[in-house]
Amino acid sequence: MEEEKLEALLQETRVFQAPEGFRQQANVQSTAVYAEAENRLEFWAKQADRLEWFERWSTVLEWNSPFAKWFVGGKLNAAYNCLDRHVKGWRRNKAAIIFEGENGDSRVLTYQDLHREVSQFANVLKSLGVQKGDRVTIYLPMIPEAAIAMLACARLGAPHSVVFGGFSAEALRDRINDAQAKVLITADGSNRRGGVYPLKANADAALNGAGSIEHVVVVQRTGGQVSMQAGRDIWYHEAMSNASVVCPAEPVDAEDMLYILYTSGTTGKPKGVVHTTGGYMVGVSATHEMIFDLKEEDVYWCTADVGWVTGHSYIVYGPLANGATVLMYEGTPDYPAKDRMWQIVEKYRVSILYTAPTAIRTYMKWGAKYPESRDLSSLRLLGTVGEPINPEAWIWYHKYIGRERCPIVDTWWQTETGMIMMTPLPGITALKPGSATVPFPGIKVEVVDKDGKPVPKGSGGYLVVSEPWPAMLRTVYGDPDRYVSTYWNRWPGIYFTGDGAKWDTDGYFWVLGRVDDVINVSGHRIGTMEVESALVDHPYVAEAACIGKNHEIKGQAVAAFVTLKEGTEVKDGLVEEMKAHVTAKIGAIARPDDIFFTAELPKTRSGKIMRRLLRDIAEGRTLGDTTTLADASVVNALKEKYADEA
Ligand code: ATP
Ligand code: MG
Repeated sequence: MEEEKLEALLQETRVFQAPEGFRQQANVQSTAVYAEAENRLEFWAKQADRLEWFERWSTVLEWNSPFAKWFVGGKLNAAYNCLDRHVKGWRRNKAAIIFEGENGDSRVLTYQDLHREVSQFANVLKSLGVQKGDRVTIYLPMIPEAAIAMLACARLGAPHSVVFGGFSAEALRDRINDAQAKVLITADGSNRRGGVYPLKANADAALNGAGSIEHVVVVQRTGGQVSMQAGRDIWYHEAMSNASVVCPAEPVDAEDMLYILYTSGTTGKPKGVVHTTGGYMVGVSATHEMIFDLKEEDVYWCTADVGWVTGHSYIVYGPLANGATVLMYEGTPDYPAKDRMWQIVEKYRVSILYTAPTAIRTYMKWGAKYPESRDLSSLRLLGTVGEPINPEAWIWYHKYIGRERCPIVDTWWQTETGMIMMTPLPGITALKPGSATVPFPGIKVEVVDKDGKPVPKGSGGYLVVSEPWPAMLRTVYGDPDRYVSTYWNRWPGIYFTGDGAKWDTDGYFWVLGRVDDVINVSGHRIGTMEVESALVDHPYVAEAACIGKNHEIKGQAVAAFVTLKEGTEVKDGLVEEMKAHVTAKIGAIARPDDIFFTAELPKTRSGKIMRRLLRDIAEGRTLGDTTTLADASVVNALKEKYADEA
């Protein structure tokens, strides 16, 4: 039906090819890979040979929709695949993790070092009674011990639940209770912009009301005063000094749980997404090597926090399974100065950089002088994930960071998908700014109408995954009904992503935003991404968020919240100019009725814009779930300012 379609308004015609030199050295050079992967199961069976299995699997996929089992009967261990395999050969002395602390302290762990520390820490966990199947919650800063803790859990077959280190005591308590975790791993504190964020104090508060936790292991990071509860709390460094370096990796079933991870909470209450071992490891290893064009000598930097799925799949499990050198940075991008990212690229000669549109828009807001002051010549490939990237932000990234030399892989995926699902393969895919391009080989993504039928090229609808994939979530922890009702009820056998998208005439996919955020103007359903991108295209604008506001005649009208670039200011006629810019770029139907200037937008802790809170503000309602909000002062200030001006 007409009103269930999404409008496709934005015409982005710029196309970028990877430079000849890049294409000739790329890991994937031929489009034949897509044809080969048409036999999906055969393709994934072949990818499974990337791993070392203790026992080979017998069946690639058992699909009792919507419940999947991949690599049935296989036995393996994720930590063994990330460490022991490499330690057997020349990689044992290769850097696995290069760590840069916020204060400029630095540490390098070779694969041998990491193997030793993970084995020791697995023995520590064992001594605390952790056994296969027990859940362990990890609440740590971005320090190597975060990866060590995850891998130590994996070594024992004990699922981990990593909770982002910036979350409050309350958020931590909810997640501990949901997982019924036995042990909590935390730190005394974390370094944050020259100050200290009190992790242990938060953990203590969280544990008041989290009865499943028997022991707390505390990493000493800042050296600040903390209270240690006798019999419950132990220091990491003390326990490690007595721990044996020998700890054989526990063989687990391909379908045994590797971890639980709670989603970012952009649309509502977070869900405990469950990932298992075999299919997940195959998916993240294959995608990481092919999409990031990984070479032995690369220095690979993913700026996500380990608390998000990007940190799980593309800091820890994918890269380490592939024997990569991974850079890990503890701090924020503006400490001590706004060139911190580029100073780190220069210092370690980073060659692959994977970051988020929210970060790119922030650098764009600060201005090009920061990256321009640093040597970025080591970079050869860039990536983005987390939100649709506005074409102007893409162009800025390409020009000022990639210096027009580096292909950009815009990767679409979710906590639930575990692995990248849509992406360019940088040696063969022509790039269009703002499009995550095409599905990864062996993945079937489609845009469908409300009846689940694929829409014709050139139109918009719901983004779905129509065949199971190896790293897919298996359930929502403790709540299989929510698993079925959230993802599989709309169309039987088809996974609904919650995102709206368009499929262009070349078959490229463009994510238009969350379906929950769609704006309905006089019966035209408009995705947020296109209106926001039209605004970001204006030379003054760094970032924009659009929502639908109730309107007597049109049903809804577009309201825009806009952040300006540093060095620009609101001048007479600017609002009219911006409205006209949107009309010229994508049409009068999308012209905002209101434009509201703000220094900051409300975002989740993972940096995604929370449009639902903007809707609450615009409609004068009490705010919905704010537990995943990064900075409460932003919404409070916005609420006051909005009430004054609107
Ligand atoms: P919740 O599901 O709890 O609301 P969330 O969806 O923000 O939280 P994530 O799994 O971290 O949790 O985010 C996945 C979502 O991020 C996708 O559904 C999509 O909306 C967006 N996204 C990720 N990468 C891209 C991309 N490259 N292009 C467009 N959108 C993206
Ligand atoms: Mg989601």
